[in-house]
Amino acid sequence: MSVYDVTVRRILRRSHQLDHGHYAVGIEIQPYRLAGVVVDSGGTVTARSRRHLTIMEPTEVAERVAELAGRLVADSLGCDFPRTRVCLGVQVGGPVDPDTGVVRRLRNGPDDHGEDKPPPYEWVEFPLGAALTAMTGCITSVENDAHAFAAYEQILGVGRESPTFAVVLIRDGVGAGLVVRGERLRVLMEFGHLQVWQRGRVCDCGMRGCIESQVGNRALTAVVKERTGRELDGLEAALALADSDEAQALEAAAAFRKAGTSMARGIATLLTTFGPSHVVIHAAQGLITGGPGRRAANTFLRAVGQFPTHTFPISRDCRIVTKPLDAFRGAHGAALIALQNCFGVRLPNAQPNI
Ligand SMILES: [Zn+2]
Repeated sequence: MSVYDVTVRRILRRSHQLDHGHYAVGIEIQPYRLAGVVVDSGGTVTARSRRHLTIMEPTEVAERVAELAGRLVADSLGCDFPRTRVCLGVQVGGPVDPDTGVVRRLRNGPDDHGEDKPPPYEWVEFPLGAALTAMTGCITSVENDAHAFAAYEQILGVGRESPTFAVVLIRDGVGAGLVVRGERLRVLMEFGHLQVWQRGRVCDCGMRGCIESQVGNRALTAVVKERTGRELDGLEAALALADSDEAQALEAAAAFRKAGTSMARGIATLLTTFGPSHVVIHAAQGLITGGPGRRAANTFLRAVGQFPTHTFPISRDCRIVTKPLDAFRGAHGAALIALQNCFGVRLPNAQPNI
């Protein structure tokens, strides 16, 4: 087929899609920012945009989400595009009830707000889906962020070669999503709060020794601070200290080793429970990109790789795959879930990007 034919086919497909197809707007809500995409019924991203937020109060955030969704639809599909053919998929970094669209709890941790940091916030049982449907006129689905990443991987990542896999998402905290025999598990799983140390640090949830007491940008920064007594402004500073030639570098690196071991123990539990062939870890580039001079990442990855020693001898291989966080992946995953949930779209041939 010539380049001309390919171009004509693409234009015809787009034209048919605009006249008859369904679209999803996917929005990722993160602390003080939003990322949004428009996805066609083939699962391909056709537009994207980001916004900063100054307030994290839930009703205010819902208004900003509705505004961004409206702007994305107007710019890419036109102001008059029928809302009956657009759905909205939103993802948040906390537990949700996907059946009712209620966000059970969403907050930033106690370490996230110092003098120069934004103020704390806490959502409890907020009906985000209903609020957004009322504001936009679009059917809305609400998901947890790790589940949105799992949906992305199912359609565009390791799901293409593996029917059973896990996704672990490391950001401020830690979450996981699972696809078992081609079905994404919709159950609420608090992976970050699996207990992996009997007498570990106290976690933000109040229990001791959770994965999230050692892993995640918030915990890693806090642990490196505790071990070294240094003032550190976030994960980047903790990574830099561990990678440096300073006297406390090895002490800082030990925090990354313990984080890796915590993760390995969590992965071992996933392995014994579900038998995934792959575990895909989405995390900050600095945490998962090893190499010369990258002591923190090397130490973390080596410890994660020890997961077989934390479980019974397994009969099948499990591969760890690492991927640096991408600004729009969660929004894309939320849109894919919305297309499936709201319009029953099946997505075998989606394209990873525009
Ligand atoms: Zn916990």
